[in-house]
Amino acid sequence: MQKPIIGIILPCYNEEEVLDFTISKLNEVLNKLKSNKTISINSFIALVDDGSKDKTWSLIKSYANDLTTIKGLKLSKNVGHQNALLAGLLNFNNDADALISIDADLQDDISIIPEMINEFVQRDIQVVYAVRSKRDTDSLFKKYSALFFYKLMHWMKVNIVYNHADYRLCSNKIIEALSQYNEVNLFLRGIIPTIGFSSSIVYYERKSRVAGVSKYPLGKMLSFALNGITSFSNYPLKLVTLISFIVLSLCILATLYAIGSFFLTSIVPGWLSTVLPLYFLGGVQLFCLGIMGEYIAKIYSEVKSRPKYFIENRID
Ligand code: UDP
Ligand code: MG
Repeated sequence: MQKPIIGIILPCYNEEEVLDFTISKLNEVLNKLKSNKTISINSFIALVDDGSKDKTWSLIKSYANDLTTIKGLKLSKNVGHQNALLAGLLNFNNDADALISIDADLQDDISIIPEMINEFVQRDIQVVYAVRSKRDTDSLFKKYSALFFYKLMHWMKVNIVYNHADYRLCSNKIIEALSQYNEVNLFLRGIIPTIGFSSSIVYYERKSRVAGVSKYPLGKMLSFALNGITSFSNYPLKLVTLISFIVLSLCILATLYAIGSFFLTSIVPGWLSTVLPLYFLGGVQLFCLGIMGEYIAKIYSEVKSRPKYFIENRID
């Protein structure tokens, strides 16, 4: 393949503090690749404003006016990182041969972009996953919770790339395929590996944010992880059966013990037989209901299949 058009997609939510830095750094990388004729001069950076409340959109507009390489997309409201990213990928797919998605704070190392593009151009790889080689810049909690999450997903037979977030290169073919997925609860790092085609991995180290604060507080992170599990695995449902089985066995043992006590020792009549089933059945029923509730909630939102975002404005 010769000189592909590459688009870099950045979802932005209240990122006024980092945009300046981000755009200048990315432009440096793109300009170098354009001047050594690796990529087409039409390659661009597309900023998706995910309903920011600060000056993000007005900044994007002024950048787009000053620089020909900048495109902007404004969503009608905040729809979350995954939906904003999807909006960017689907809306700019026709303008490029491959799109690279990366967070707007550039915590992920952009010096591997040439290598990612190389995989696409030289080896015709359709998805290039950027994977963190280590997690030194994470808090201890984030590090171990992430490790636990990936292990758990693996154990539940969900095919996700270890230590890969949403920093990746996808070719037109992949995004075309992605557009045919209709799910509302998006978990892109779970969906992309199910598409197939050729893929490869490029390693990098993640830095700390240069400015601004994380838009992924603990609550959002946990619900994202839970979404990942319930969107790709029915293992929790199977777990319910397993647990009920164990509890049932314990109940039988407890019943035998209760009957034994009744004949061999003196107990307050009626106590054991009242309290045992209460504990066991109450606990297990609540647990089962909880898990089923998760899936029912999911079916509820999937069945409605509401639009994931609306475009308010686009500048090229
Ligand atoms: N983001 C977004 N919508 C949101 C929250 C976050 O588009 O509702 C973007 C954000 O601007 C950033 C990326 O998602 O480009 C990742 O967010 P952040 O860097 O805050 O997450 P962290 O790196 O702390 O996990
Ligand atoms: Mg970040």
